[in-house]
Amino acid sequence: MRISFFFLWFIVLIFPACAQSGQNLEQIYERYKETAIRQRRFKISDIEPLIKKLGPSFQVKQAGASVEGRPIYRVTTGSGPVKVLLWSQMHGDESTATMALFDIFRFLQGKGDGFDDLREKLQNELTLIFIPMLNPDGAERFTRRNALGIDINRDAVRLQSPESQLLKQIRDETGAEWGFNLHDQSRYTAAGQNEKTAAVSFLAPPVNYEKEVNDTRKRAMQLIGLMNEDLQAEIPGQVARYNDDFEPRAFGDNMQIWGTSTVLIESGGLSGDPEKQRLRKMNFLAILKAFGYIADKRYADVPLEAYDRIPFNRSNSFFDVIVRGAEVTLKGKQYTVDIGIRGDEVDYNDGRSYYVRSAISDFGDLSTFHAYQEIPAQGLAAIPGKVYPTVLPNLAAAEKLDYRKLWQQGYTAVQVSGLSSVQTYRPGPLQLLKPGGKPDSSISLGRNPGLILRSGGKVMYAVVNGQVFEN
Ligand SMILES: [Zn+2]
Repeated sequence: MRISFFFLWFIVLIFPACAQSGQNLEQIYERYKETAIRQRRFKISDIEPLIKKLGPSFQVKQAGASVEGRPIYRVTTGSGPVKVLLWSQMHGDESTATMALFDIFRFLQGKGDGFDDLREKLQNELTLIFIPMLNPDGAERFTRRNALGIDINRDAVRLQSPESQLLKQIRDETGAEWGFNLHDQSRYTAAGQNEKTAAVSFLAPPVNYEKEVNDTRKRAMQLIGLMNEDLQAEIPGQVARYNDDFEPRAFGDNMQIWGTSTVLIESGGLSGDPEKQRLRKMNFLAILKAFGYIADKRYADVPLEAYDRIPFNRSNSFFDVIVRGAEVTLKGKQYTVDIGIRGDEVDYNDGRSYYVRSAISDFGDLSTFHAYQEIPAQGLAAIPGKVYPTVLPNLAAAEKLDYRKLWQQGYTAVQVSGLSSVQTYRPGPLQLLKPGGKPDSSISLGRNPGLILRSGGKVMYAVVNGQVFEN
């Protein structure tokens, strides 16, 4: 039953998608990637020049301003009857989709690459209305909330923030039939029971606590059914469904109530993609293809089963590192534990850079959790590292140390003169401390000890500020 359904699905839906052009969007992506944006932290002043140089097929205007007076832009293209509204970075530190929107702008201005038919179709069938950074004050500091400290996504009904008012105003003015609500979610979310992270999660937000499926929501669910199929080809097993509990204050839920078929996209975590550049590409692919499906109304025949079979997000199920089954000595006795480590990003340089401060965020039996990196430590003793007693004059001297020899002697930290606070979090095989600095020395929650994993006398691994080193 299931197999034949999948097979039919493939024939009916995927085949025409491939057939419509010789090469696929995946292959031409690099050509359109906006290279002025290379990492997650950027501000309105960084993207403003890109918005202002958009070609004549775009209408650009400053639609409003944030609490602190930063511009919020509205970018429109196309002259079709179906209005599609996309807003990104309502949460200032969720910028993955904003990057993708600039790639989409570049694609839409392209020509002669085998996709002119698609462009023409989008141009004639759709009017695309983009708000590429709804919360520029939050983006300025790389924080979720706006400058009032209000979460815009809990302000859809009360509409106190100017950013919220603007989004509502644009929705009402355009009467958008479709909405794309573009966010980032925790990178520690799993895709259902898969031992994989939820790289992208979708949701057709509900319209009430009963999670009723009205026509508006149904269309969004059908479209997501198609978008999931597309992304499964790129990131198999890493697409999930966001929690579908009704949130009466949120924009997605209210957009759906107001009659705009709304698709939530949450970019999560993908191994080896700390700056979310691959996830950015996934957004590019998913959104552009969705435009095509909307223009063709191809979603209309998609069974809701295609949506319902996407596994739900499993929150808080991942760690950066799990040390599995290590032997640790606690209060004088030996225990077998898993140690789960996560890294917090600490911003500096006016919110443009960050360093990672790792800590033990859980330990005990973590057999139901997964990690980006797992250390098989069964039978190994996990011992907190000590501070090397000699104070080194500078970083260069620290770099010359034979760190393997130090690990062997039980040291994972060194004191160095003249370090800045940021330098003490520099990645490397030894933790750097200011002279007299004390590292965490216990294996307990919230602590960040250097760990040495030994098999008898031999050092097998060291873990320093969440970085794993094999010896
Ligand atoms: Zn968000």
